[in-house]
Amino acid sequence: MQSDLAIANQVKLKPIHEVIERLNIREDEWEPYGHYKAKLSLDLIDRLADKQDGKLILVTSINPTPAGEGKSTVSVGLGQALQRLGKKTVVALREPSLGPVMGLKGGATGGGYSQVVPMEEINLHFTGDIHAITTANNALSAFIDNHIFQGNTCGIDTRRITWKRVLDLNDRSLREVVVGLGGVKQGIPRQDGFNITVASEIMAILCLATSYQDLRERLGKIVVGYKLDETPVFVRDLNVQGALTLLLKEALKPNLVQTIEGVPAIIHGGPFANIAHGCNSIVATKLASKVADYVVTEAGFGADLGAEKFLNIKARVGNLTPNAVVVVATIRALKMHGGLDKQFLVEENLSALEKGIVNLEKHVETIQAFGLPLVVAINQFGTDTEKEIDFIKSWCARRRIEVSLTTVWANGGRGGEELARQVLATIEQDNSSFKPLYDLSASIKEKMTHIAKQVYGAKGIELSAVAEEQIKLFNKYGWDKLPICMAKTQYSLSDQPNLIGRPRDFIIKIRELRPSIGAGFIVAMTGEVLTMPGLPKEPAALKMDLDDQGRASGLF
Ligand code: ADP
Repeated sequence: MQSDLAIANQVKLKPIHEVIERLNIREDEWEPYGHYKAKLSLDLIDRLADKQDGKLILVTSINPTPAGEGKSTVSVGLGQALQRLGKKTVVALREPSLGPVMGLKGGATGGGYSQVVPMEEINLHFTGDIHAITTANNALSAFIDNHIFQGNTCGIDTRRITWKRVLDLNDRSLREVVVGLGGVKQGIPRQDGFNITVASEIMAILCLATSYQDLRERLGKIVVGYKLDETPVFVRDLNVQGALTLLLKEALKPNLVQTIEGVPAIIHGGPFANIAHGCNSIVATKLASKVADYVVTEAGFGADLGAEKFLNIKARVGNLTPNAVVVVATIRALKMHGGLDKQFLVEENLSALEKGIVNLEKHVETIQAFGLPLVVAINQFGTDTEKEIDFIKSWCARRRIEVSLTTVWANGGRGGEELARQVLATIEQDNSSFKPLYDLSASIKEKMTHIAKQVYGAKGIELSAVAEEQIKLFNKYGWDKLPICMAKTQYSLSDQPNLIGRPRDFIIKIRELRPSIGAGFIVAMTGEVLTMPGLPKEPAALKMDLDDQGRASGLF
């Protein structure tokens, strides 16, 4: 079997101007970044403001398992299939983070014959957006420490600085650090810490900003910490929102690349879906819907995380309504949700499948609760048996759920044509009645309870004493009308990674709340989820290399 990188390397890429030409983008509306990448101008959105938006297809999945689901693979494959059926399509995805690339995943650009290319560049430094976000974030840390060193006219309480430094790597040793050591001239010592860049508020801001002006306003609203009397200190109090906006000048422009079959792909922004809001940028989605008739976009992890946040947060800010949702599942992962160990996945096991399919059932119910039409896509693996496939098909048929078997990994767009036809028919029927699941006017507690019960299937929530106190403070500052961004494990519908399948009667424990006022949401930290991941015992990086001719290996 060929690796994803080997398949990607065999593709003869089109020069990027050929990809652009198909989208009616003017010469002054894009800039080349090498031969196969381009940055698109935000002016395009204004020029095409009156043009009707293309149809939006949101791809989500069941809770991930070590068996793999292939959401990006299916998103790319579906885009390629739509193009084969003659539809003008753009795929809009997130940028990979180096944390998981070096850690567990080894790459996040789809797989097999459904990938975005140039694969290795997209997975490594791409056009530098994530580095720019890291720099803007750490510039703010430097401004805060300098402000304190130079006399602290804002009166920041050095024990209550909430702003952390970031790095786009998995590095557990940086979770808690002390900065400013070394004596009187080196700064004021204080406890600090690092998050991974893709969990940072600036990443969320970049993904939710609709213009440079909106970007600047949002950056100004970031809370960096509190004064002795517990009143918040904002970035605008330090007057550095202009400098931060400048550092993000190029990063706000969406990146255009192509899929293996030459479908335009806009890859922009990359927040994780477990510890952040999990969706690509609003400007990328909007731009895609202006230049194409069909946009396939992906929200991270299961429908309990990425899709919930797409529909309750991103859709509200960007005024977006998906016309159809695709829920990706694999037979292997469903068998794991039924309790089967990874080593037995290659064998047929209908009883494990029957036990595990309840995970899919819950996610389907969630999408239906949002009033959206959906199609289940079974991402076929070589080990799936006919009886297992028949089981899922008839399970869906009994519930009147559209389902399609896709072989986009093995066959590219050709393997997704049936899925594409079903999605087109679903869009045609136009029976969506989309509505976010909660009103912003509800209290912070009510909103969290609503997500826990309706999306996770929990009995309720339990707040720590810290979280209770924070709610009182947030109410005082008028932050209670913001949506909630839950930070929760991706592996389970609950906040405990080992509760697979469809757990019931559990309680979601809210440990702490974090105000992301610039992003425009309150982050609720549940269970043991961390905002700086660690590396596994055998990181994917151990297999990576570069040969003497400059060719990469080990990305997958
Ligand atoms: P997700 O978006 O759900 O995290 P990806 O699409 O990134 O998943 O796929 C994860 C990995 O699984 C990739 O390396 C991809 O090549 C592999 N993969 C996906 N679908 C299949 C399949 N049908 N058969 C074999 N490998 C697959």
